[in-house]
Amino acid sequence: MLQDQLDKLLQSILRAHEDGMDCESCNAEFECLAEQVAAGGDIHALLPAVEAHLTCCSDCREEFEALVLIIRAENGGLTSQLTD
Ligand SMILES: [Zn+2]
Repeated sequence: MLQDQLDKLLQSILRAHEDGMDCESCNAEFECLAEQVAAGGDIHALLPAVEAHLTCCSDCREEFEALVLIIRAENGGLTSQLTD
């Protein structure tokens, strides 16, 4: 039945979360990591545990990607503002 498949899927997602980082410890790394990724760093080389969490947690992935975009925008905006 479909319900069984959903249960198995849910279990595997939950288990992936248990094996890796939880959202809270993942979020604690975001600010530092996002700055490095925005500067061209490779998340897989920097913090593979966070990368693993991002692949299975869409909430954190969206938050992290937004953070990288904000930092990139800030870095880009900084240089254009200097000509003010
Ligand atoms: Zn998460």
